[in-house]
Amino acid sequence: MTLNHQLVKEKKSKLNFPSDLFINGNYHKSISEKSFDNISPIDGKIINQISFAQQPDIDKAVSSGRKAFEKGHWSNMPPGQRKKILLKFAQLIERDRLELSLLDTIDMGKTINDTYNADLPTSIDNIEWYAEIIDKLFDDISPSSKEYMGLITKEPIGVVAAIVPWNYPLWMAIWKIAPALITGNSVILKPAEQSPMSAIKIGALLAEAGLPDGVMSVLPGDGPITGKQLCLHNDIDCVAFTGSGEVGKLVLQYSGQSNMKRVQLECGGKSPNIIFADCEDLDTAAEASAYAIFGNQGEVCSAGSRLIIQKEIERDFISRVTKISKKMQPGDPFDPESFAGAIVNNEQLEKINKYVNIGKEEGASVVVGGNITMQDTGGSYFEPTIFTNVNNKMRVAQEEIFGPVLTTLTFSTFEEAISIANDSQYGLAAGVWTKDINKAIKASRQIRAGTVYINNYEEGMDSTIPLGGYKQSGIGRDSGYQALDNYLQVKSTWAKIS
Ligand code: NAD
Repeated sequence: MTLNHQLVKEKKSKLNFPSDLFINGNYHKSISEKSFDNISPIDGKIINQISFAQQPDIDKAVSSGRKAFEKGHWSNMPPGQRKKILLKFAQLIERDRLELSLLDTIDMGKTINDTYNADLPTSIDNIEWYAEIIDKLFDDISPSSKEYMGLITKEPIGVVAAIVPWNYPLWMAIWKIAPALITGNSVILKPAEQSPMSAIKIGALLAEAGLPDGVMSVLPGDGPITGKQLCLHNDIDCVAFTGSGEVGKLVLQYSGQSNMKRVQLECGGKSPNIIFADCEDLDTAAEASAYAIFGNQGEVCSAGSRLIIQKEIERDFISRVTKISKKMQPGDPFDPESFAGAIVNNEQLEKINKYVNIGKEEGASVVVGGNITMQDTGGSYFEPTIFTNVNNKMRVAQEEIFGPVLTTLTFSTFEEAISIANDSQYGLAAGVWTKDINKAIKASRQIRAGTVYINNYEEGMDSTIPLGGYKQSGIGRDSGYQALDNYLQVKSTWAKIS
């Protein structure tokens, strides 16, 4: 279906806004009756009240997840049957695609074009990919002596808590729950407090697809209460987390303070995007570089937020990116023609504004943008912004802004480019643009990042490729078959043959 503004408006006028906890196959209010305001950054208005999960709700969800796991209706179900349920789940998401897209757009402000044409198809593809892989994986037999047979098998880890951010609400949730469920685990999903509605809705879709009761819970709530209590819970076996490095470090501590549960982390980035002077197509590189930071309002973990340009093409390249940035202004998120939407909330908007001021105080120059915009809407919007005169020691070059703010740096030699790229606490992604394939591969080998894009930036991403970080960008991987390992235990069995 091709989107148009009228269709979006009609669907929006008929939407139901999900608001409750999903536990043991049903929706419930929080036992404490606590709730929180859910505010849309599109116009700053309250959408609904969301039930706020507290310790008794968490205990109930963990206990139903544990019981389901031990009963084995899901954990021991043959993979080929689990596959059918997840494939059905993917079909139901496709059926409700516009509704789910709207819930994410309303909650966190990104455009309907992004949710409907990027986040939703990617989420569906991810579920289908994991469903299809699970009955094609085999365990191992060791090449041990004749007297023994060594079996190396994999088993689900148990009860998994998935704690996710708001920048791709449904997609980031699916990246955790698809591999965690398909491997036979029980899962408790905690969406970000800024974007809970699509997560709540998929509880019902999983039940409709045939997932046994108790296997999946959805617990909306904030980080310091609901998130922290999940991480400290002694009957949760694994926390799979996507979010800031600051909270990622807390999650590791909570694991140490409780039952040493496994922790998988996908955290932030300050990714370098290196443009060598011998890049074959500077227009394509400029378009991709602008998209790499202004797409999704710059609220992207792997955003190419440090553009590192070889000195002889600096002026020319910045002028190309600046020109393109003017077409990437925010607009009405419900209009399928808008390139960008609202920033997730006022707090994040203020943070972006603060960093622009920090950059100016540090001596960097704003060549375009730099302002809060569309204030008449009551929502939170920021102009695409480009800094020049940046050095890599500045805070705007080192700290994750998580907004549409590009810092540009220059280099003379290959070694200098790599040294600037690696001079960061993060190591999530990087881009390299050159027509010299030897140079590109050499750069890819020397850059300490989980993903390197050569002559593209984030194009062609699909479920086959893992994403994750070196250094303080995380531990473990999402996506690809590597993500299955987050949710599996390895069992060695020694059988004596007499
Ligand atoms: P955040 O760390 O503030 O929150 C992420 C999640 O953690 C939310 O659900 C939040 O409620 C929860 N949380 C907050 N405090 C907690 C605590 N004390 N204990 C347990 N849980 C807690 O991050 P955010 O602002 O929602 O998202 C932005 C961050 O996410 C950025 O740093 C971005 O780079 C990162 N991110 C990374 C990836 C990746 O794949 N590497 C993808 C998307 C976003």
